[in-house]
This record gives sequence, structure tokens and C-alpha cells, in this order.
Amino acid sequence: MTDPRTALVVGGGIAGPAAAMALQKAGIDSVVYEAHAASAEGSGTFLTLATNGVSALRVLGADQPAIAAGFATTASVLWSGTGKRLGAAAVSMTLDDGTTGYTLKRADLYKSMHDQAVSRGIRIEHGKRLLAAETDGGMVLARFADGAEATGDILIGCDGIHSAVRPIIDPGAPGPDYAGLINLGGYVRGVRVSADPGTYHMIFGKRAFFGYAVAPDGEVWWFANVPEPGEPARGSLAAISTGQWRQRLVGLFADDAGPATRLIEATSHDLAASPVHTMPRLPTWHSGRMIVIGDAAHAPSPTSGQGASLAIEDAVLLGKCLRDLPGPDQAFATFEWLRRPRAERVIKQGARINNNKAATGAARIIRDTMMPAMLPIYVRFIANGKPGKQLYGHHIDWDAPASPIQE
Ligand SMILES: Cc1cc2nc3c(=O)[nH]c(=O)nc-3n(C[C@H](O)[C@H](O)[C@H](O)COP(=O)(O)OP(=O)(O)OC[C@H]3O[C@@H](n4cnc5c(N)ncnc54)[C@H](O)[C@@H]3O)c2cc1C
Repeated sequence: MTDPRTALVVGGGIAGPAAAMALQKAGIDSVVYEAHAASAEGSGTFLTLATNGVSALRVLGADQPAIAAGFATTASVLWSGTGKRLGAAAVSMTLDDGTTGYTLKRADLYKSMHDQAVSRGIRIEHGKRLLAAETDGGMVLARFADGAEATGDILIGCDGIHSAVRPIIDPGAPGPDYAGLINLGGYVRGVRVSADPGTYHMIFGKRAFFGYAVAPDGEVWWFANVPEPGEPARGSLAAISTGQWRQRLVGLFADDAGPATRLIEATSHDLAASPVHTMPRLPTWHSGRMIVIGDAAHAPSPTSGQGASLAIEDAVLLGKCLRDLPGPDQAFATFEWLRRPRAERVIKQGARINNNKAATGAARIIRDTMMPAMLPIYVRFIANGKPGKQLYGHHIDWDAPASPIQE
């Protein structure tokens, strides 16, 4: 296959605009097709952009606008529902050059990525929900729900965990797994909590998990993970009103120490709940002229705090592979070979934390007893040791040539 000159990027969330910017650096023109009519769906919650994500954005020259919308978060303190301090852990790692992790509203990160891409002349078309794609005469032909079609040399699926591109690449590919948790979050002013800005407080409550951090302007950002063994039917959570959620959350956290119930009661905006999903291992990420990256390929649990960062790293490395390797098949194979071990390591870590969050009964008592002893070892191991450096210190050197796959 010849080197691609044009690309169709499906999905305008985080991986999509990042991929378009990386492709542009590699000399490939692309158009981003986003299903949502206005801007990409940003939902009300927030996320952490880890140091490795900031570093990947920096390769694209897109880090400053993104982090300007958030605040540095470096530490988290873990508590049991009884108010026992279980330990402290790094949220991300502060690198030697001072790069640190940030917390930012999902919608702000989406907007920043979108605006950066558009300011570089990249076209983002909204209201374009991909339905089908096929390879035709050495080109990819994409069809959208509004009847439009587009062609390009390659197609990059950045369409998230419920990807439409994934089953086009591999009709036998598994779909997302439900993690047994529902996520909700909110923002509230005027409630006093004893916490330093930039530190997360995570409470392994008796019945559910609660986390909060104070922004430098005093606003408290909180989230809750509610165990729900059966996967809710799609759309069913939207039918639950804010009042009903508030009442349920207050009940769930009523017996826990900490400010959860005060924060929930004082939150005046609508609460939107979403089920937490992860992606099982895909047999392959690419076929012919199409590939999936970001959550579409390897969504880790939100608990890992790495989904957005991995998506940005993917975009940068894919740009490099397409720049340096002859033809999309070799570029895609090398990309997957280089990326898969890292993505799978992060997924494994996130899944372990999810199990702790969903613990009830005896498992909860064992967790609360073991954690104070185990956590310092774990923190030293993950945050300060080699695994932490591998996770947070990961840097993609844009100028170094991408090495071809080695069997
Ligand atoms: C509650 C929650 C908390 C999280 N917390 C963190 C965190 O703290 N840190 C972190 O790094 N990550 C976190 N994540 C994960 C992170 O949000 C994702 O990993 C990241 O958004 C993945 O980026 P993406 O571009 O691959 O997918 P997405 O951001 O999901 O973007 C996919 C885009 O594709 C569009 N799309 C979908 N289908 C189509 C179609 N058929 N045609 C065209 N467009 C389509 C969507 O509208 C969307 O804009 C969290 C996720 C959740 C749900």
C-alpha cells in the first residue's frame, strides 16, 4: 500500500482532534467527523489528565490551553467510611521538569482539543454519525447517518467505547464490559470542607465510593461510584430524576464519615449518571486501511485516570508510525505492537481498583483492614518506583524515527 495522504477521523472527542493534529504534523490531511450536532458530548463530569497525557499533548503543542482550564492535582488521601485514614497516594507523578497531572472538566478538555484542531485549519464536521465504511479501489468510503459520504486513504476510528468502527474492522470484536458501577458527579460552592486545593479525598464508603477535590477558586468537585450489579438498560438512567438520585446518594452515604451528604445536598445542578464500562481485549485494532485508537480500542476503567491520556498518546504515536513506515498496513501493525502492552497494563491496574470500590460485606472489612498496611507498599511500588515512572514518565519522542515491528 502507498503512503496515505488523506485520512477520515471518526469521532471528535479527545483521540480524534489529537489524531488530526498528529497527522497534520506527519504531513497527512484529515477531516474529523463527529456524531454530535454541536460540540462533542462532554457530559457533566471531570477527569484527570495525567503527566503522561500532558507530555503527549506537549508534543502536539496543545498542552497549555488544555491545562489552563484545569488545576494541578498531585495527591490523593484515601479514607474508609468510618473515617479511618487508609493512606495517601500520588494521583499522578510530578516529573523532573515540573510537569504534573491536572483535573479538568471533561467539556473543557473536549473544547480545548476541538479549538486547537480548528485553529490549525483542521475541518471538524458535526452531525456526522458514521454508520458504515468499506474499502473501495484503495480508498475508504465512509457513510454517515445523514446520507453524506466521504472518502480518504485511511480511516481512524476515534469513536469511543461504543465504537461503530470497531465492528467494521472486526465483526467478531467484543463489545464493552459493564464494570458494575454507576458514576455521577457534581460541582458545588459555599460548602466548607477541610481539604487543600489539588488533593483528592477518596472515601471507600460502606455502600458506595465518594471522591472530591477543591478547585483553587473554592468550588468543590465531587464524584460518586455506586455499585449496581446488573447493567442498566441503555437510556434507563436518564429516566431517573435529579431529586431521585440525590435522595438515593444521600441514603447511600448517610452512615459514612466525611462531607459526602453535605456536598450532594448542596449541589443545585442536574445530576447525570452513566454506567462505567471497560473494553475487553480486542483480537486486533486494525484491518486494511482502518484502525481504532483511544477508548474504541482499549478503554481502561475511569478509575485508572488514564483513558484520556492513553488516547492522546495513541494519537501521537500513530502519527509517527504513519510518518515513518511505508504504507498503512505496516504503520498500523507497528503501532499496535508498540501500544498494546502499555494499554493492557493500565487496564489491569484500573480493574483492580474497581474491585475495591465495589467491595461490600466481608470483602469491604478485609479491604479496610488490609489497605493501611498494603497501601504504603503499593504507593512506593506504583508511584515512586519503576512502574510509576513507566506509567507517568512515558514520553513520545516525535523526532526519533518509529522502529518497524520486530517479530
Ligand atoms: C465517568 C468517567 C470518568 C473518567 N475519568 C477519567 C479520568 O479521570 N482520566 C482519564 O484519563 N480518563 C477518564 N475517563 C475516560 C476518558 O474520558 C476516555 O478514556 C476518553 O474520553 C477517551 O477518548 P476518546 O476520544 O477515545 O473517546 P471519547 O472521548 O468517548 O470520544 C468519542 C467521540 O466519538 C463520537 N462518536 C461516537 N460514535 C460516533 C460515530 N458513529 N460517528 C461519529 N462520531 C462518533 C462521540 O460523540 C465522541 O465525541 C473517564 C470516563 C468516564 C466515563
